Amino acid sequence: MTHNPPETNTAIAQSQDAAHHLHPFSDAKSLNEKGARVITKGKGVYVWDSEGNKLLDGMAGLWCMAIGYGRDEVADAAAAQMRELPFYNTFFQTTHPPVVALSKKLAELAPAHINHTFFTGSGSESNDTMLRMVRHYWASLGKPDKKVIISRKNAYHGSTVAGASLGGMTYMHEQGDLPIPNIVHINQPYWYGEGGDQPPEEFGLARAQELEAKILELGVERVAAFIAEPVQGAGGVIIPPASYWPEIQRICDKYEILLVADEVITGFGRTGEWFASETFNIKPDFICIAKALSSGYLPIGGVMISDRVAEGLINEGGELQHGYTYSGHPVTCAAALAVLDIMQKEHIVERVKSDIGPYLQEKWLALGEHPLVGEARMIGLMGALELTPDKATRAPFEVKKGTVGLMCREISFANGLIMRHVGDSMIISPPLVLSHEEADELITKAREVLDSTYAAAKEAGYL
Ligand SMILES: *Cc1c(COP(=O)(O)O)cnc(C)c1O
Repeated sequence: MTHNPPETNTAIAQSQDAAHHLHPFSDAKSLNEKGARVITKGKGVYVWDSEGNKLLDGMAGLWCMAIGYGRDEVADAAAAQMRELPFYNTFFQTTHPPVVALSKKLAELAPAHINHTFFTGSGSESNDTMLRMVRHYWASLGKPDKKVIISRKNAYHGSTVAGASLGGMTYMHEQGDLPIPNIVHINQPYWYGEGGDQPPEEFGLARAQELEAKILELGVERVAAFIAEPVQGAGGVIIPPASYWPEIQRICDKYEILLVADEVITGFGRTGEWFASETFNIKPDFICIAKALSSGYLPIGGVMISDRVAEGLINEGGELQHGYTYSGHPVTCAAALAVLDIMQKEHIVERVKSDIGPYLQEKWLALGEHPLVGEARMIGLMGALELTPDKATRAPFEVKKGTVGLMCREISFANGLIMRHVGDSMIISPPLVLSHEEADELITKAREVLDSTYAAAKEAGYL
């Protein structure tokens, strides 16, 4: 039996939305005056709005839609699981087939030293779980004072109390009295914005060495872990210089600090390997996952744990006083399994590495020649364009930061391409199933958008 939803009346949907729905990360007042865009359908790499506009989804939903919209296999797997066992918990010394199968599958896909997963409902919850496990791990080993987690400015680790505290977004800290104690932030490896005249590799090394300086300042007996996104996503697709990660790994090894890779965006093929930890050749103790784990079809996240930490927690940790009602929910696990099955059968990760990744990268990097663009960068299928009034100096616009970026995003939407703006940087993270034809369309549209933004910014006196 299929349900045909009634035709969506845009004005009614917008006014009811304004009356009853509070949106994440939105200024409710100005949104309600304008009216939200109503998205009604998705297929492949496209979504449609209630006015019938077709949009190429350059953001894969919100970094998650790896396999593309509308795959019946996932819907069928979830429906079958709902009929068989729609819910059971994993608290009471119980388990169920979908969570067993997904745990085993993740152990196969993860780097060799990682063989256990704790399931959550989102990326934020994954980071909450990780924080508690990190502290519990050290306490179990007789080091209860080892609880400081070092993170980075402009990091994004989610929106719960722990997630936002671990994150380095000051505008998030300002709401709700964050960060919580024993979380400190060092500088990010953002060469374009902060590197000045320093060569990128030198700058990357210097930013990594801030970790060592911070550990020595705090005292190694107090420092529990370092957390970072292998490539910063929400911060603006910031790809660290090649010198950065090897130095971070060296420092974590030297001081025996746990390394946490927040791979909520970079996991499951985004950088051309199953995990960006492989792309950057690092050996994390925790890998936090969510988003593309289920391609966003259902909400599920997890914390994947290295053998040494798992052994500590299992042998010394006693009863874990932590868990979610929906940890390892059978329907979300079944959906994730169906998604990973598609990714394996269709060699989607390999495609990112050796086919569509290099194909899109070459064209995307060429956009760097546009007069409005100070730098174009891309790794795997995540990329950024830094907008600037002066290519040579990488200067910011004189108008308030984000003004031109927002202008560009609006022009992009109107031109049928979803890009996101972070300040005055335009970012993309398209579905991993993007075809060559769709990549060409993305680039053609992006170039038109840059031309129109250039004209509009000039008209407004920003150039
Ligand atoms: C999106 C994101 C999160 C938070 O995930 P939610 O599912 O929104 O809670 C955490 N870390 C990173 C790196 C993310 O991009």
